[in-house]
Amino acid sequence: MFTGKTKNLAVIGSPIEHSMSPAMQNAAIQAAGLDFAYVALHVLPEVLADAVRGLRALEFRGFNVTIPHKSAILPLLDEVDEAARVVGAVNTVVQEAGKLKGFNTDVQGFVGAREMRGFSLRGKSVVIFGAGGAARAALYGLLRSGAARVTLGVRNPEKARSLVQEFCPYGEICVFDWHDAAFAKVVADAALIVNTTPLGMAPRTDEMPPVPWAAVCAGTFFYDIIYTPRETKFLQHAAALGCPTLNGEAMLVGQGAAAFSLWTGKEPDLSVMAHALHEALGEGEL
Ligand code: NAP
Repeated sequence: MFTGKTKNLAVIGSPIEHSMSPAMQNAAIQAAGLDFAYVALHVLPEVLADAVRGLRALEFRGFNVTIPHKSAILPLLDEVDEAARVVGAVNTVVQEAGKLKGFNTDVQGFVGAREMRGFSLRGKSVVIFGAGGAARAALYGLLRSGAARVTLGVRNPEKARSLVQEFCPYGEICVFDWHDAAFAKVVADAALIVNTTPLGMAPRTDEMPPVPWAAVCAGTFFYDIIYTPRETKFLQHAAALGCPTLNGEAMLVGQGAAAFSLWTGKEPDLSVMAHALHEALGEGEL
């Protein structure tokens, strides 16, 4: 039962009706026996500042931020942590004594997946397809976790070039046109290949980034941050070559778990969150 003592949490975005966060967070709150409530709030871009003022005034303990507000919210906060500042996006806000502090838990979600923790990045070469918001979180997380170099394979290298300047203090970065013949050599040397483009996401499940499959070495780890469908065409091809694969569910659960810890000071039950995600996706139990 919610009372005057219940601490409120939310996710703000537009559209918001398909967000998986209320299901995952409320399941974790219930399992932990905490007096918190988490709701999804539709916030249009033109009222973002009003909405943030409202959440502050209503003393929300915190909130998640999703498309299209992850960058626009930065100037509305009192403080942001280093990851959010470098990535240029906030997905989690914590309110403490009236001050709003922004975090980017997509970074932890990306590198914190159990399967990723079992994979040592130190000294390894990584390829990322795409250079958008999720790629920035992945890039920061990979370089901070010790990857020797990260190469971005993109359709528009000119647009992605600024990332080299922005992220070079954290490690070695290159940008390639993904149709460039030299890109195949980089793919051949990569220990981890990540898809951060929406290519292959439902309903366009017949698409995938243009991996030079002939260059791929056995044992290369393939990570697609898409979670609908659970196995994209990109991951199907990799699995057919005998390569280990990981989809985006662990990242989604991981970013939510890190946000939960920031708000409550407690570690959530990851399996409870993963089950809730599966049910919300309409895929039943794990
Ligand atoms: P974004 O900022 O829009 O970036 C998308 C990137 O993919 C850009 O580099 C874009 O290139 C490229 N791209 C888009 N459409 C393309 C196409 N048709 N052909 C070739 N390249 C294309 O999006 P985002 O926020 O990074 O999200 C990307 C994906 O990650 C989405 O599928 C999203 O659902 C998923 N995601 C998953 C999680 C998770 O927790 N699992 C978290 C965040 C995002 P241009 O710049 O040239 O357009």
